[in-house]
Amino acid sequence: MTLSPRPDTEDGLTLKFWGVRGSTPVSGPDYTEFGGNTPCLEIRCGERLFLIDAGSGLNACGRHHRDGLPKEIDLLFSHLHLDHTAGLPFFKPVVLDPSRTINTYCGNLDGASAGTALDRLFSPPLFPVSLDVIPCTFAHHGFRAGERLTFADGATVDTIPLNHPQGSVGYRFEHAGRRLCVISDIEHSDPWPDTTLLEFVRDADLVVYDGMFTEGEYPVCRGWGHSTWQKGVELAEAAGVKALAIIHLHPCHTDTMLLSVEADMQAVMPTAFIARERQTIAVGEPMRSAPALALARTA
Ligand SMILES: [Zn+2]
Ligand SMILES: [Zn+2]
Repeated sequence: MTLSPRPDTEDGLTLKFWGVRGSTPVSGPDYTEFGGNTPCLEIRCGERLFLIDAGSGLNACGRHHRDGLPKEIDLLFSHLHLDHTAGLPFFKPVVLDPSRTINTYCGNLDGASAGTALDRLFSPPLFPVSLDVIPCTFAHHGFRAGERLTFADGATVDTIPLNHPQGSVGYRFEHAGRRLCVISDIEHSDPWPDTTLLEFVRDADLVVYDGMFTEGEYPVCRGWGHSTWQKGVELAEAAGVKALAIIHLHPCHTDTMLLSVEADMQAVMPTAFIARERQTIAVGEPMRSAPALALARTA
């Protein structure tokens, strides 16, 4: 991987993190290195855009691109917990433009779309208006995790169900000979790695994985639906994965602690790193040393 930004128009497979924090946004001096927004990932297969999750990071994504996003935007939900949905009405300026359509894809509700849940979430008194008052058009699509998504332009994305309360969906993108998997939110199984998941991520150039807890924290958080960086490394090594990015960072994990965790992780797997908000990755390109990450994030 090169960890410097690339123009969106290049014909590679790229990933930009707009939010890497789990559960709730955080801010303040302890969160300047890794960021405080909840999950939102921008994936480009060449120029073809996919967004994963509408956490609070979606606002920064919209403000960064302004009018530079396509008229139709495909937003793939891992699932609908608040840290993955609460940013949706703040996706400006996209949501204020009546000529734009946001297609949402939801795969953890037995084939039902996100429409009913989002209408419940974004309605008075929890939210001042319902989504149908917002100028852009929302088109909600449901599928079953495990299906291959095929889009109107012929693009395909593979999916897999993940172990998480109410379920979650992992995604696999393949483009230009590169493979990227996003596996969050997930709680690892015992035994581990899960054989179906292992085949799903096999030989990926990069796996993005839920590392919310440390191994020390996990025993008291069992059943909460999240995993550890060690389980991510075990999965990556068993599946021949070339690089690993940890996301869904615990809101109590400060920069100081995460830098220490990252050093421990890289002693085991040198191509593993903790994702930084606004970091851009050219998937499958040669890895640079860790200090380049911070430089890339500021660009
Ligand atoms: Zn989450
Ligand atoms: Zn969740």
